[in-house]
Amino acid sequence: MPTDPAHDAARHTAVPPFADPFAWTADVLRSRRTAGLLRTLTPRPADSALLDLAGNDYLGLSRHPEVTSAAARAARRWGAGAGGSRLVTGTTELHAELEAELAGFCGFEAALVLSSGYAANLAAVTACTADPAGPGLLVSDARNHASLIDGCRLSRARTAVAAHADPEAVAKALAARAPGESALVVTDSVFSVDGDAAPLGALAAVCAEAGAGLLVDDAHGLGVLGEGGRGALCAAGLAGAQGTVATVTLSKALGSQGGAVLGPAHVIAHLVNSARTVIFDTGLAPAAAGAALGALRLLRREPERAARTRAVAAAVHGRLSAAGLDATRPDAAVVAVRAPSARAALAWAAALRAVGVQVGCFRPPSVPDGVSRLRLTARGDLDGAALARAVDAVIATAPSGG
Ligand code: PMP
Repeated sequence: MPTDPAHDAARHTAVPPFADPFAWTADVLRSRRTAGLLRTLTPRPADSALLDLAGNDYLGLSRHPEVTSAAARAARRWGAGAGGSRLVTGTTELHAELEAELAGFCGFEAALVLSSGYAANLAAVTACTADPAGPGLLVSDARNHASLIDGCRLSRARTAVAAHADPEAVAKALAARAPGESALVVTDSVFSVDGDAAPLGALAAVCAEAGAGLLVDDAHGLGVLGEGGRGALCAAGLAGAQGTVATVTLSKALGSQGGAVLGPAHVIAHLVNSARTVIFDTGLAPAAAGAALGALRLLRREPERAARTRAVAAAVHGRLSAAGLDATRPDAAVVAVRAPSARAALAWAAALRAVGVQVGCFRPPSVPDGVSRLRLTARGDLDGAALARAVDAVIATAPSGG
């Protein structure tokens, strides 16, 4: 076997064998396997024949020729990587162009793109609670995405977790703060597990009444909700509203990779000056920026894509419910179908895969309520026949009692 000289050198200077300090990880994995909760990575072949209802490519844009060509053109023009953080060499004219178009499309004054939606949420939550007068209070929905939760953990603000989609619980948490204490309410617009929407209008009213900021993660709303896919904030009449900041991902409906924060220009400038995932992370790769810009322009030209995706989700839900399955009514593109147990969910997903349909399988610990589900993502680009085949398969392979 050929050996790498660097490894040979390491062997010569190696200390005598000692107990593996990571042996405990094997024990943890063993218990996960026993409980049927072990996760593994399965490479997806480029030419997979599987019908994909598992990903978040809601509009089918990640393989659209206009989007992939825009990515290739951007890489050729600007390089494969951004080459540095945004404040050093990682801001190109392409980044500025994307930010201006994204802000305009979603109805906000300014935007800042980052390497992921995850990084965007960390940046937004921490920067919006970095008031030198005092970090104040964060009120976070109990079912928020992990990236918002991690933002709360990184923030110096005190976090109160409010009951899911409950404006009264939020109002109560805000009322309990000290006089003059600042506050930020954070919520997903569409929750990723069940696909249900947050009561944004009521939350905005509670925030306005209490003088609190509102931060909405619109990862699952952009491209699907609002006029022409302008997002959940547009749908709720909150795009660009005072005291409102949004985050989005470029990796779902826009079919690219990356994330963004949208808000008033002074808040975006504050992020550039203080958010660690802006300052210390390499800028968004040019290909990803080019692809997102291409997708955005496509969406402007073909606004019916968003409504079509919502209609597909409603049709999937209608058929599954009519067949007696416990499917959640979708507020955007995600339809969740409950399974009787983690094992049943896993077996159901495997049976579907065997007949050529790929679906998401959510099991504890990544679901907040311990309920295992299949997660189907409606895709606006699927034709009626493909859709019918997929839904028929979900019904035919359903476990009894599911
Ligand atoms: N927020 C929500 C609600 C999400 O579902 C996701 C992706 N799973 C993210 C943020 C993170 O976005 P990204 O994948 O671009 O890091």
